[in-house]
Amino acid sequence: MGEFKIGCHLSASGGYLAMAQTACSIGANVFQFFTRNPRGGAAKPIDREDVKEFKAFAEKNGIGPILAHAPYTLNAAGVEERVREFAEKTMADDLVRLEETPGALYNFHPGSHVGQGAETGIELIASMLARVLEKHVEKFGGVSTGILLETMAGKGSEVGRNFEEVAQIIERTEKAVPEIAAKFPLGVCLDTCHIWDGGYDIASALDKVLDEFNAVIGLERLKAIHLNDSMNTLGAHKDRHAKIGKGHIGLEAIGRIINHPKLADKPFYLETPCDLQGYKEEIELLKGLRK
Ligand code: FE
Ligand code: FE
Ligand code: ZN
Repeated sequence: MGEFKIGCHLSASGGYLAMAQTACSIGANVFQFFTRNPRGGAAKPIDREDVKEFKAFAEKNGIGPILAHAPYTLNAAGVEERVREFAEKTMADDLVRLEETPGALYNFHPGSHVGQGAETGIELIASMLARVLEKHVEKFGGVSTGILLETMAGKGSEVGRNFEEVAQIIERTEKAVPEIAAKFPLGVCLDTCHIWDGGYDIASALDKVLDEFNAVIGLERLKAIHLNDSMNTLGAHKDRHAKIGKGHIGLEAIGRIINHPKLADKPFYLETPCDLQGYKEEIELLKGLRK
């Protein structure tokens, strides 16, 4: 087993260096942050000096990969054109900003079809991704960021509620821009609370779920794990994160997840309802469970 990559979601308000320092102070070696206000809006301009200091600090302290999370309001599958355009512009802009920190990961919720049907949702999301990728590569000659689709709980009309829907978005995007996709393949961020709420029994059938992930999506696509317990029962389609060991997935199952040979080398990001002290304690707890 390699090094345990464990961290949590942090506030981006102090900039990159501050996040990395905070991560270190709570025993984390990775972290996640919102690229802008989670409800949308303009992002703060990039502070090049901050980025430079962050990179030196991250290198010295073995921090990374960092995971940038798109705002929740990003919905390429929206009914209104205004909503879809916001999604496309925001993602394009986020990826430009992330060129400053090569090797970062970028995670987004595929979207909600809001009554249009999953099929239409999948098509809208894939066509947006293809356009964003094409324009970005045209401008930068490549993509320095790993773009990840997050597995969803299937709350409301969420697209990406099962492995099949995530796989279909990836397949269609890559069919639209095959040359770009060959060089910059899309990846997946697996959220343990979401897939549990989506009906995948990672508590008592982890091997079976991972086999299914591999058969439908491919484990080579798995680049990050959102490590959360769930306030709800298997298949509830609710999406309410619980603290580690305080939910229906449970501590024993979470111990198996972080030690599973197919998962152990992936970076784990906590998104549990914790303050910094709470995250510090969860990280300690998880380090203690790590074999
Ligand atoms: Fe998320
Ligand atoms: Fe998540
Ligand atoms: Zn969630």
